[in-house]
Amino acid sequence: MTATAPREEQLWSRCAGCASLLYRKRLRRNLDVCPECGEHARLGAPERLRQLVDPGSLCLLPDRPPEADPLDFVDVLPYPHRLTGARASTGLAEGVVCATATIGGHPVALAVMDFRFLGGSLGCAVGELITRAAERALDDRTPLVLITASGGARMQEGALSLMQMATVSQAIAALREAGLLTVSVLTDPTYGGVAASFATNTDLVLAESGARMGFAGPRVIRQITGRALPEGFQTADFLLRHGQVDMVVQRRSLRARLMALLAATRAGRPARSPVPRQEPASHRERVADDGAVLARPTGPVAEGDAGTPAVRDAWDTVRMARHPGRPTTLDYLDSVFDGFVELHGDRLGADCPAIVGGVARLAGRHVMVIGHQKGHTTAELVARNFGMASPSGHRKALRLMRLAARLGLPVVTLVDTPGADPGVSAEEQGQAAAIAENILTLTVLPTPVLAVITGEGGSGGALALAVADRVLMLENAVYSVISPEGCAAILWPDRSAAPQAARALRLTAPDLRRLGVVDEVVSEPSSAAHDDPAETAHRLRAALLANLLPLLDVPPAILVRLRRQRFRRFGANRVGARAGLR
Ligand SMILES: [Zn+2]
Repeated sequence: MTATAPREEQLWSRCAGCASLLYRKRLRRNLDVCPECGEHARLGAPERLRQLVDPGSLCLLPDRPPEADPLDFVDVLPYPHRLTGARASTGLAEGVVCATATIGGHPVALAVMDFRFLGGSLGCAVGELITRAAERALDDRTPLVLITASGGARMQEGALSLMQMATVSQAIAALREAGLLTVSVLTDPTYGGVAASFATNTDLVLAESGARMGFAGPRVIRQITGRALPEGFQTADFLLRHGQVDMVVQRRSLRARLMALLAATRAGRPARSPVPRQEPASHRERVADDGAVLARPTGPVAEGDAGTPAVRDAWDTVRMARHPGRPTTLDYLDSVFDGFVELHGDRLGADCPAIVGGVARLAGRHVMVIGHQKGHTTAELVARNFGMASPSGHRKALRLMRLAARLGLPVVTLVDTPGADPGVSAEEQGQAAAIAENILTLTVLPTPVLAVITGEGGSGGALALAVADRVLMLENAVYSVISPEGCAAILWPDRSAAPQAARALRLTAPDLRRLGVVDEVVSEPSSAAHDDPAETAHRLRAALLANLLPLLDVPPAILVRLRRQRFRRFGANRVGARAGLR
């Protein structure tokens, strides 16, 4: 926004997006978002706080950092003169305002950067103030919310400003270890040392609509590469597409979105030891006893509808499991869970559409839900890569699993994939290692994990979400090491033997229940899930609750021990299981 004329400065301003002349009061009422074009004007820290926190809850933290001009820096102006000027024009002591407050009743510590103050640059004082806000969050055991706006490190403080990236990151690491949530909200612009530290190494990264974020600025990149930059480069939507942020949020929704995330992540019991420790061998008997208790069949949902001895041919079941009308993960997120907030991206360069995940409520309890997403129409299926996750999908899942563990949220996975993405680029990006890492992480994840095979459970791509304390399976789902077609092509003369292969693979829910691969079969309505999605959802919800609730009271170390035992038992002495898994 720039003023049209000095005299009218208070009354009118011109939108930087569409050049409309706007009445200032109207603009302010609209949270400084242009009512004509939606352009989000930059906000100062005090106004940002006013918009976000509960009225009357704001308590500013001391803003008197040690005076610093460590280098006696002089460019065209001595550094102290620049500081004095910034203080006079903003009314702030430094480029960040820190506070404690509540947002929707949830206590938080906040650090809000102000771009008006020397471009929001990160100097020793800003680093110190943000670090103190993080330490306050640790002392109070509250989440930390960072609102970033910065051109980068403060040149006038040289390498000492660079060190602030490490100082603040260390404070964020301490919150992570304590199982306390950290959230950053990227606002326009966030660059350089701030982008490469606390703007992006938090648990959740939200981008305000219109924000741009990057390490190197567009001008620098253009100069170095001598090329034009792609349309929308480094914008919030670009960041979302490239897996860098969890979501893009309009300013008017920001407070509500933060409230939802704070509510979801507050519920869990903080996991005090993110890395589970091995228990001494002397504890094994006790653990085994607990295991016996835990492994008791639970829940009101019986195997198969009473009176319908489910003897469907395995090949028919395969076709049922692949039926395009069958409810997908997003359908279940809508029908079984409440308040789903989707989290995006692997933070490494991509956001795989075949995996969806985020926080949601199950009968009032907060959980992390991660699942494969297919679709009902050809267009949906193509857009979701037929539910075949890429390495970035597995890495997104991994990020969410670890986040759930840190915050003490149980993990519910919904498995429905023909298998992992078999493409060239998936191999180049390390598909095998990505799956391997998920499997390993799930074996040690210190929070309850409940997996449901809802449709197709295809080989390693399925297992990457299905190493769990309890594995449930819908009645007409299938779970197999290879597709019947693939198996037929290898072991039979040709793929037309797929129905025989389907029978031989023992991939149906009743077979897998007998083999112990699956703990419980969730019955479907008389014909199949796609004929009565509401009833299917109802049954799935009951089964999830019946299986999840007993897990919530088990200490994490015991949980991990039992999960390992569960998967250890598929050994050489279980000939039947072996045959079934081949
Ligand atoms: Zn506008």
